[in-house]
Amino acid sequence: MREYSAMRIFNTMSRKTEILKVLEAGVVRIYCCGPTVYESPHIGNMRTYVWQDILRRTLELNGYKVIHVRNITDVGHLKSDADTGEDKLQESANRRHSTAWDIAKIYTEEFFDYSKMLNILDPSFSPKATDHIDEMLDLIKKLEDNGYTYAIHNDGVYYDTSRFHDYGKLTGMNFAQLNKYLIGGARVKLSREKRNITDFALWKFSPKNEKRDMEWNSDYGVGFPGWHIECSAMSMKYLGETIDIHCGGVDHIYIHHPNEIAQSEGATGKKFADYWMHGEFILVENKKMSKSKGNFYTVEDILKKGFGWREIRYLLFSAHYRSQLNFTIRGLESAKASINRMHDVMGRLKDINGTDDKTELKKLHALVNSHKNEFVRWMNNDIMVTEALRVVFDLISIINKQIEDGRIGRIGSRATIDAILFFDSVLGLNLAELMNEDSIPREVLELLEKRDIARAKKDFALADSIRDMILDRYGFIVEDSKNGQRLKKKRL
Ligand code: AMP
Ligand code: ZN
Repeated sequence: MREYSAMRIFNTMSRKTEILKVLEAGVVRIYCCGPTVYESPHIGNMRTYVWQDILRRTLELNGYKVIHVRNITDVGHLKSDADTGEDKLQESANRRHSTAWDIAKIYTEEFFDYSKMLNILDPSFSPKATDHIDEMLDLIKKLEDNGYTYAIHNDGVYYDTSRFHDYGKLTGMNFAQLNKYLIGGARVKLSREKRNITDFALWKFSPKNEKRDMEWNSDYGVGFPGWHIECSAMSMKYLGETIDIHCGGVDHIYIHHPNEIAQSEGATGKKFADYWMHGEFILVENKKMSKSKGNFYTVEDILKKGFGWREIRYLLFSAHYRSQLNFTIRGLESAKASINRMHDVMGRLKDINGTDDKTELKKLHALVNSHKNEFVRWMNNDIMVTEALRVVFDLISIINKQIEDGRIGRIGSRATIDAILFFDSVLGLNLAELMNEDSIPREVLELLEKRDIARAKKDFALADSIRDMILDRYGFIVEDSKNGQRLKKKRL
């Protein structure tokens, strides 16, 4: 493993930033609650998966092997947190005159397409809930054997949360406080048959005289799993009984994650996860971006506005994951300007072919290394991306000045490009590809030569028209610098 300072992450469970201590040397096991595939994901959902991707890349930069599971919820996520209402997939299927299976297929594929587009690394495993019904039923049986379950006639098998020690510990409240809080907030309604407001369905029975698209036989009756049991079962199958980090959005702190803990620990008697990380929401006009409020943007919506995937990714990761992020077009524009600065300096560095001055080169290596270390220090401090980006742009400003002063030679320029690509291994903007896109067609090189001649002859009208032609026909911006003409690919 590389020698960096230890990683620190904020643990919702302790409400403290803690040094990461892993269960197995050099390996981190992470479970991230995945999307419910009943609609197109909005960029709020994608923010969650982008910061988790940045977390994973940071762990990998530190030399860890990351085993990353992000599930697909394709059944059991009901419209209401109170275990009432229709399954979101079934409801979406009914509305679209389709089947829950087809809806799941369409939106799972779409989710993967968006993830790929935003350069989110594929998890080690992306299990679907519907492929793990047996594992869920096994877990429910264990909970039944351990005395945690009860059945509600014509409804389902429920978890009696009063029987689990420390239920809701993640919320920072004890059982009585949490019950009171949930009743007060009317977030969850107490049905008459539920013993406690915090109790939740492990298995829901299919309604009588109705055939659901997704239902399975079980010892309890024909039905389908509750949403929470899915994550416990899939986490255990792919990562074992105890994992290092469990991630999700802040909305999971009060219901979904306490339920996962109660299930996993109730079944195994072992600690479920050592660290709990929760990301904040994207807001639109100070309201949570959500599918149900209809105030959301999909990746597609933003692409249609003329922004590229890099701008979306940048905007999503540029605020700390525990801060709310207000979505604005100005934010996208400023993301674009930041990416252009990175792209621009890389282009300038690539053009440098001069000999390096020994003393300057030594100083440059020290400058680059100190910025790399500083970048890692911020990222290792609970993923402080905003500060890490400040380090990147500080280096870029210094380097731009040094290029203008002619202080950088070929070796120094390559070392600086490597440093920017090092930052990018965590940021995931694929700047290397952006740089390669700049490969210049032969026709453009010929036009540049002609323009050089025109400039030498002081025929500036011709030089300008060649510059316009290069931009209009080939999409390259010509800049005149001390070192001669320089090309930059125009980005949308
Ligand atoms: P869902 O598809 O509804 O199950 O949500 C998938 C993930 O997106 C969950 O981890 C949510 O916490 C997260 N999420 C939902 N809305 C937002 C939002 N506005 N901003 C950030 N994350 C969100
Ligand atoms: Zn989950």
